[in-house]
Amino acid sequence: MGQCSTDCSKGIRGCTLIRDTLHRFCTTTADMRAANLKIPWDRNLGLTLQNEDRSWLDDYAAFYYKWSHCRDCRLCHTRGQSAPGTGSLSPKVLVIGEAPGPVEDEQGIPFVGPTGTLLRETMKKVGFDLYNDVYFTNVVSCIPRDTRNSKFRAPTNTEATACLERLNYIVNTLCRDTKVVILLGAVAMLGWQRLMHPQTDLTILENQIRVGKSIGWSQDDNFKLYTTYHPSFIERHKKLSDAIKFKSLYQDWIYDFVVVKKFINEGVGRDNPRRQ
Ligand code: SF4
Repeated sequence: MGQCSTDCSKGIRGCTLIRDTLHRFCTTTADMRAANLKIPWDRNLGLTLQNEDRSWLDDYAAFYYKWSHCRDCRLCHTRGQSAPGTGSLSPKVLVIGEAPGPVEDEQGIPFVGPTGTLLRETMKKVGFDLYNDVYFTNVVSCIPRDTRNSKFRAPTNTEATACLERLNYIVNTLCRDTKVVILLGAVAMLGWQRLMHPQTDLTILENQIRVGKSIGWSQDDNFKLYTTYHPSFIERHKKLSDAIKFKSLYQDWIYDFVVVKKFINEGVGRDNPRRQ
């Protein structure tokens, strides 16, 4: 990847101006399809891009536009906005959660509600550069709501399967240089299994996964996987009166991110000692 015409040294994929404009443009421009999914970078931003960069960005814009307007499963009927993903376009870490919540549904961006904020703040606290190193997404891109009371619910197998092609693009196109995939909770683990090992009997796997159990490192093809609690699990415990239990759980969770950060910095992927 080359540079744009500015003096910044981050490169195209690390440029937050480009990324944020691209996401906004794909979400809000109704006639982008008519414009053949080409963002007028020069006119809008005054950027002169090399052809290679322009074509890569157009490809990502097409991906983002497609999943922002997707109607491949019934969740499209009850969503506000789809939230395909956000973060660095050349991430060292991919974070996969469950599904957008109400705030994410309103903004079309994953992990911006209370539990997302808890996750981002925790990752920042242990030294992650969220803008340049991390891409955030979920197993499904649209909020799953219970039809009887509109409350948030877990995505069904059918909904998760319908959204797999999106996750596939993120993993195989965006994450070529990614070192670690963090799976937040059981739904993310099942989503990963569905994507990478479609032949696996998910019923058996489901029985093996204990929701809320943080299980640390595993290896999958080229990816180092780290599985930990979903932030909503931590949030739920915060509301309980057992302050000591919450404190110990939260410390364990922070430590999980410390372990991943250490691996990113030093390439040391040892198991988390507290689980041995
Ligand atoms: S959840 Fe995924 S497959 Fe379903 S409508 Fe949303 S973007 Fe499309």
